[in-house]
Amino acid sequence: MAFVVTEPCFGCKHTECAAVCPCDCFHEGEHMLFIDPIPCIDCEACQNACPTQAIFHEDSVPEQWRDFIALNAEMAEICPSITERKTPR
Ligand code: SF4
Ligand code: SF4
Repeated sequence: MAFVVTEPCFGCKHTECAAVCPCDCFHEGEHMLFIDPIPCIDCEACQNACPTQAIFHEDSVPEQWRDFIALNAEMAEICPSITERKTPR
């Protein structure tokens, strides 16, 4: 089980989420962040830090965003890791 970043993250990249993650799960794509499900320990820290409510537990991802579960796993493998907060765009 893991947490998943979904559509409201698109274009935001406040990245508080990445700064609070104790397991360095976050990876940075061109337009949004992704969580690597393998190291995720379901601690909820990122969900509480995200101002756009973009992060859900994979069991609770709204129906219209279910594709993001696989997308996070795929993109986390190819996007660079991000562990610190960046200035939002
Ligand atoms: S805080 Fe939320 S919206 Fe911002 S980058 Fe992280 S997941 Fe995306
Ligand atoms: S739930 Fe915890 S371990 Fe998983 S991505 Fe969020 S902050 Fe990281």
